[in-house]
Amino acid sequence: MAEPIGIVTAKDALFAAVQRLREAGIPSARLDAEVLLTHVLGTGREYLYAHPERCLDFDEYERYQAVLERRLTRLPVAYITGKKEFMSLDFTVDEHVLIPRPETEVLVEEVIFRVGSRIGISSPEDRPTIIADIGTGSGAIAVSIAWFLKTAEIIATDISADALIMARKNSKKHQVDNRIKFLQGDLLSPLSREGLERQLTAIVSNPPYLSRRAMAAVSPEVALEPKSALLGGEEGLDFSFAILEQSGPYLAPGGFVALEVGHDQAEIIADFAKKDLGYGKVEVIRDLAGIQRVVIAGQ
Ligand code: SAM
Ligand code: GLN
Repeated sequence: MAEPIGIVTAKDALFAAVQRLREAGIPSARLDAEVLLTHVLGTGREYLYAHPERCLDFDEYERYQAVLERRLTRLPVAYITGKKEFMSLDFTVDEHVLIPRPETEVLVEEVIFRVGSRIGISSPEDRPTIIADIGTGSGAIAVSIAWFLKTAEIIATDISADALIMARKNSKKHQVDNRIKFLQGDLLSPLSREGLERQLTAIVSNPPYLSRRAMAAVSPEVALEPKSALLGGEEGLDFSFAILEQSGPYLAPGGFVALEVGHDQAEIIADFAKKDLGYGKVEVIRDLAGIQRVVIAGQ
């Protein structure tokens, strides 16, 4: 039944794959076809450019067709390859966790910058720097902060046990598991069980923040990510408001909350922090696309 293979070059296999993905209306057809072929061949993309005449053997061809079939169901590439790069680190992902987004790097960089400069000036007898990541998902935020701030201790929480399994796996992969404590529970509730009142230098979160309307309009790919990682109530603000409301008692003097927010939410959330909750220092940071993406609220 099977066609005799060994004569299909990488170039021809790619060409055919791009056509199929394009015909199915997949916007990133070329990139996806390349990433999936390098995944099957176990090479980098440079290899494909350097060796377009490389022949696929039967097994490679079959596996390539199988991953293309999965992509044609609109399954995101990262769920097919099982990995996604974030902050130049490789994260393992599966359908239980949100795929880390580039805009979240802005949040992480901001926290690393602010906390890093404080560690630099603190005296040796200072208390340890403890940072909480609320809704850690794959562990992208917690693990990369631990990786870049070598003395920080991290508390990573999630409501989802499956997400915490993945986050722990990623912390081991990058050898920062000895500085991250994983706790399951609703928003900041695990912090009180740990007696962390007035202990945290920063509380960081990329909470679910899509409104019901935005959720109904997501791409077929995003619709295959966990809804519990995306939907933030009717207006998308429920988790962001709740985190700001609950954070006060856990912040150490000079501590701050850093939240990723939706493209049209920064002002509402900054106002809420300032006017309703009395945070003294509130700032909004833009992402690389110029969108107001991060709200920092300090006391
Ligand atoms: N931090 C990851 C990132 O930036 O890639 C994942 C962020 S994802 C947008 C939100 C995460 O919050 C999901 O992992 C979800 O399971 C978690 N979550 C949802 N409701 C929660 C709750 N009530 N308490 C704690 N975590 C929650
Ligand atoms: N940026 C994500 C998306 O729209 C939403 C992430 C979130 O809710 N925190 O795909």
